[in-house]
Amino acid sequence: MTRRRWIAEHWDEATATLMGAQAEHMARVLRAQPGMEADVVAGGHVFHAVVAAVTPGEVRFNLLTELDAQAALPVTLVMAIYKFDHMEWAIEKATELGVDVIAPVIARRTEKHLALAADKRVERWRRLAHEAAQQSRRSDVPLIYDPVPLTAHASVAPGGARLVLAEQERSTTLRNALDEILRAAQSDLPSLELAIGPEGGWAPNEEALFDANGWRAVSLGPRILRAETAAIAALSVIASLLE
Ligand code: SAH
Repeated sequence: MTRRRWIAEHWDEATATLMGAQAEHMARVLRAQPGMEADVVAGGHVFHAVVAAVTPGEVRFNLLTELDAQAALPVTLVMAIYKFDHMEWAIEKATELGVDVIAPVIARRTEKHLALAADKRVERWRRLAHEAAQQSRRSDVPLIYDPVPLTAHASVAPGGARLVLAEQERSTTLRNALDEILRAAQSDLPSLELAIGPEGGWAPNEEALFDANGWRAVSLGPRILRAETAAIAALSVIASLLE
């Protein structure tokens, strides 16, 4: 039987601790007792661990042996902020598919009230990513940046190849662009930034901004996808080529 996996909030070389809701769930629902075994992720490493102490607000583990961890997909998903329920679904699925970082950005066509509410919402996005990472037995939790205007994100120096999903692009598919990037990188696994527009799509001045900052427009095919579908489809294409 596979052991449940928990992602610890605090750790040192020999122990790790769950706090808050996670600790409460373990103590009350699962009736954790000292001696119970679990897999615990501490600082990106996975350990076979055993419960050492349980109180309602805290569960402490002794870390026994380190297990193999799988790396995240080296992808930063730059996501235009749009309808929160759809966006949250995309955050959850992107986490399951292995995304490394999610950078929420305020685009020209992000609705005003959502742009204003985004700063308060980011903690919830982090919590959802944490839960999804745990559920899909990841050994790390995707980092979710604080929301910033697209102009601030798009123009900082690139960390890797930059691709922007654009439904009006016809000649370059995501797959072709990735093939080229992989060929050019040879054996090094390149890191990627992948931008997805809001419900209304990118505005013309945003397309120009991407263009001026070295982003390449890529297509996922002739049909118009919702942003959350585009996120899942794009990450699946990337995973199929990189993993
Ligand atoms: N404004 C568009 C829909 C935007 S879809 C319309 O209604 O006509 C939201 C985002 O999903 C787009 O900005 C783009 O980043 C991505 N997307 C959707 N379909 C796509 C496709 N076929 N190829 C590439 N990206 C796509």
